[in-house]
Amino acid sequence: RPALVWFRDDLRVTDHPALAHAAGTGRPLVCAYVFDRSGGSTRPLGAAARWWLDGALRALDATLAKRGGRLVVLEGDERDTIERLVDTLGAVAVYWNRRYDVRRNTDAALKRSLRERGVTVESFNGALLNEPWDVLTAAGTPFQVFSAYWRAARRRAAVPAPLAEPVEWHFHPSPADIARCATDVDALGLLPVAPDWAGGLRNTWRVSEADALARLDAFVADNLLGYGADRDRPDHAATSRVSPYLRFGQLSPRQVWHAALAAAHTRGGTLDTNTDKFVAELGWREFNASLLYHHPDLAVANVRTRFEAMPWRDDPSGLAAWQRGETGYPLVDAGMRELWATGWMHNRVRMVVASFLIKHLLIDWRAGEAWFWDTLVDADAANNAANWQWVAGCGADAAPYFRIFNPVEQGRKFDPQGDYVRRWVPELAAMPAAWIHESWSAPDAVLRAARLTLGDTYPYPIVEHGAARRRALDAFATLKN
Ligand code: FAD
Repeated sequence: RPALVWFRDDLRVTDHPALAHAAGTGRPLVCAYVFDRSGGSTRPLGAAARWWLDGALRALDATLAKRGGRLVVLEGDERDTIERLVDTLGAVAVYWNRRYDVRRNTDAALKRSLRERGVTVESFNGALLNEPWDVLTAAGTPFQVFSAYWRAARRRAAVPAPLAEPVEWHFHPSPADIARCATDVDALGLLPVAPDWAGGLRNTWRVSEADALARLDAFVADNLLGYGADRDRPDHAATSRVSPYLRFGQLSPRQVWHAALAAAHTRGGTLDTNTDKFVAELGWREFNASLLYHHPDLAVANVRTRFEAMPWRDDPSGLAAWQRGETGYPLVDAGMRELWATGWMHNRVRMVVASFLIKHLLIDWRAGEAWFWDTLVDADAANNAANWQWVAGCGADAAPYFRIFNPVEQGRKFDPQGDYVRRWVPELAAMPAAWIHESWSAPDAVLRAARLTLGDTYPYPIVEHGAARRRALDAFATLKN
């Protein structure tokens, strides 16, 4: 009788603890995925994430097919669907890797009900270096500050080496049983139809586990040693771009950790600063997962509750200009258009556009979080909400509210030649570096030569920086009382 491996945000076969364990039992395997269109206890996936999921499911199915099996794709309420599948198959065991958001309640309830019926259920850690309960203060409480969290995490035992994929694959031989309840990826309708907005995503990404590992290897070989200096430069493709693969578990953090450390230069047992900086980013991912574990409503509730009284502005046209990349601030617009075209945005630019929405436009961070949720291929319940709260100043370990990025200065500093802006805002393609981030101050002759008519071919800034900054500081000041 078969064992069921329930795949969730771990769409890979290497370093997959639940799969490795199931294969080790010697039982015939059924590998299944359940899509709950409604999102179940959490919100539905955004459109870009659905696009990615489509590719990831097809890729996993193809991987399993090469090993003689299939991915059984089902649609419905997770708990009901898995219970029904266990009954249909007569499965004696179910294995999965753990989740840390509210869906863990579904998992706990399912675990109880299956065990009551005599089914073996075991869960594993496949998504984090350390689970939320592994890294706590001496008092047993969650850390509120990243640096202390990460120091404590780094003191823990070495990160175990990633697991290889199972050597022996035995699939449950009864496709008829499975066909009765399975659907196929096409039927999930995850891809956009009319309009088909995913052309830029298709041009940017290859979505399989093999592509994830290749991307990681290329980063480690080509960019890791310059990461510290280059990571903030959107004009250099210097970061790993593994975030969507981590989000959907086509790559595990252990694989990323070990790939980086294997290539790292160590001196006297100390990591070089590039690798140290890079693995600390994995640390932020862990810290955010732990935050979400302790604050399940992280995407909607301010961690610092006094921010509930923030006098946000209702500004639909400002929000629309921001979403479309038509704010008149070139770095902001480049970022928002990169996001729309590719489903991804460079981290420095994410911080700048988020700060612009929250501070320059004084629009509630939750509107930005929701837009990112819908448009990012790496949209992640923990990382997205925690980073938005970080920028707003209402998160656990947050940027101070009075830090208001000047989008022009940020552009000059991190895109000094304007190459990133030119790539995503073609209206500014002919602007010289000296003026590209502040074209409204450029002499007429420069604008004419660049064929730029402000207010026509490209907007004037929708808010003036100094005035917007003062307005934001005044609004934030009301929270002090
Ligand atoms: P690298 O710099 O190569 O870092 C390696 C990995 O570390 C990343 O893939 C990611 O898993 C993790 N990481 C890096 N920076 C962060 C960070 N600040 N917080 C948490 N983990 C990090 N990241 C997401 O994965 N999903 C999101 O939905 C998301 N939303 C964000 C929203 C805002 C407003 C901001 C400011 C940041 C957000 N980030 C999010 C974090 C970060 O921007 C991306 O993880 C990063 O840009 C991904 O690119 P990379 O893989 O090249 O990163």
